[in-house]
Amino acid sequence: MAKKQFKAESKRLLDLMINSIYTNREIFLRELISNASDALDKRHYLSLTDENNRVDPEELTIRIDLDSKNRTLTIQDHGIGMTQQELENNLGTIARSGSLEFRKQLEENQDIDIIGQFGVGFYSAFMVAKKITVDSRSATDPQAYRWQSSGEDGYTITPIDRDEIGTTITLELKDSTEEDNLDEFLDSWHVQQLIKKYSDYIRYPIQMDVETQRKKENPAEGEEEYEDVIETRTINSMIPLWKRPKNEIKAEEYNEFYKSKFMDFEDPAEVIHYSLEGVPSYRALLYIPSRTPYNFYSSEYESGLQLYCKGVFIMDKAKDLLPEHFRFVKGLVDSDDLNLNISREILQQDRQMKAIARSLEKKIKSALESMLKNEREKYEQFFDHFGLQLKYGIYDKFGANKDTLKDLVMWKSSYEGKYATLKEYVERMKEDQKYIYYAAKESIEMIDQLPQMERLKEKGYEVLYFTDDIDEFAIRAMMNYEEKEFKSITQGDLELESEEEKKAKEEMATENKSLLESMSQTLKDKVKEVRLSSRLKSHPVCLVSDEGISMEMEKVLAQNPEGSMVKASRILEINPNHPIFKLLQDTYTEHPDQVDEYTNLLYDQALLIEGLDIENPVEYANRICDLMIKANQK
Ligand code: ADP
Repeated sequence: MAKKQFKAESKRLLDLMINSIYTNREIFLRELISNASDALDKRHYLSLTDENNRVDPEELTIRIDLDSKNRTLTIQDHGIGMTQQELENNLGTIARSGSLEFRKQLEENQDIDIIGQFGVGFYSAFMVAKKITVDSRSATDPQAYRWQSSGEDGYTITPIDRDEIGTTITLELKDSTEEDNLDEFLDSWHVQQLIKKYSDYIRYPIQMDVETQRKKENPAEGEEEYEDVIETRTINSMIPLWKRPKNEIKAEEYNEFYKSKFMDFEDPAEVIHYSLEGVPSYRALLYIPSRTPYNFYSSEYESGLQLYCKGVFIMDKAKDLLPEHFRFVKGLVDSDDLNLNISREILQQDRQMKAIARSLEKKIKSALESMLKNEREKYEQFFDHFGLQLKYGIYDKFGANKDTLKDLVMWKSSYEGKYATLKEYVERMKEDQKYIYYAAKESIEMIDQLPQMERLKEKGYEVLYFTDDIDEFAIRAMMNYEEKEFKSITQGDLELESEEEKKAKEEMATENKSLLESMSQTLKDKVKEVRLSSRLKSHPVCLVSDEGISMEMEKVLAQNPEGSMVKASRILEINPNHPIFKLLQDTYTEHPDQVDEYTNLLYDQALLIEGLDIENPVEYANRICDLMIKANQK
């Protein structure tokens, strides 16, 4: 019979497992039991929804047998089983994201000690076994199959006879050596401890035959009172973690459960565990991860919560339970009030489901709010990872969720350079300050260098640093915060000046009307207007855009083929208090033809300051050189 080779991506993980002398390799048992439990979940669900596949709930068990003579450890379940194709697909390739991530991390860190933190799945059995046999009969196919492998040299799949639906996995343990003793996995007491440690909450009985002593009923005279017997015992307590009272659950238990069930290798940032009596009643165990899953911002990432109904597993990623803006939340929901026979399609429109989803959203929101209030540092870390999602949430659906999210978003701000919420910003606003000011650029450094910043700093006005593409779009969807409008420091009229200053500027503009018009003429199609500025302090010029689309938004939209037609209207502003303006005025009276050249130069400078490309860099450089030569001739 021809051997098949493992898929390339699986091979490396496999090699690693085979050659591992990792001390925590005991986690293989947790992985196999967890697979068995998943398979039982699926069988249980099938039996409740398909009358041709009924099963006696008593049968839903996991059995572990140890055989020291043959050095085997066997795990047997009456779960859903695997067809030939499933054996091929599931055991020939790394399927789970946890394993892929693990491999990636390992390539970066070369640190075997991180194994235990991952759900590494079925392959972890190769840490202890030299040969693995998987006998399986699927609930959907009467023909059973045997998958067998000794690791590196591939695997075989052959048909076998088997009456029972389910899977039996037999591990032929590696030989013990002096420094590497595997005999503990054949020791009943030790294996029982492992089950208690890692798999206590599994909802199905994990049974083992245990040697024990029993009192004899009628011992003969002088005979021993006790006799040795073998008894089948359930080792785990079987109470799912989420059904246990909160105050009895240790942090490690929550974390361990999270890591093995939701495939993360780091502890979660936050655990939200509660039960709610009402219509419908439900229990929820939710987790906020402490870092962004590697595929979070790609279409590969699947959000959703596990759904249980009366303790029966229904589905893995119930999308409709989580709003898009909280899609980073992992966890499960268990409700007694849902109809078990409900199909997955109907579930999505179910009123009860909708009610649960609404209440989950509120709980998540208030958990985040209290983290923000009481554990600022932790919240900021959370925000570094998932803040973008919250901002998208504000923008999404034309701002429909802005009220839920407006107090959860933050931006770094010019006030101490730290994160600020809008609430904090508004509280710090100066008495005469009308707007919430922000500036959008790729980086904080670039914003700090904007000529416009000086005036705002002088006024003591705080500026929010918008460095994510979504920022400006989000606040436009928000429109205002506590009736305060947002204002970009590079757009429109900043309204920084007093009435007198305004008047003085207007007069100056009238006096210099023809100069400004001639400059506008020079830059014809490039700018909408050339005007005097009130936002500049020591810099001569800046480029701003009118209200509406900003230049940063234009850049973002340009990445999208449909948006590339949208352009910001540009305005060149000149600082009337800068010596350059005096120079322009003088030049305009004495050598009007030179104003053209200066205007082009200043426009290019403004572009450069904005971080935009100039049309003709060579010409710009030549102009500067000409000026230097002229200056030297004088
Ligand atoms: P994961 O469990 O994360 O998917 P594994 O490598 O542990 O990754 O298992 C791969 C797949 O093999 C599982 O998703 C499941 O479909 C299947 N499988 C493993 N063990 C069993 C089992 N005891 N019964 C039925 N299917 C199983």
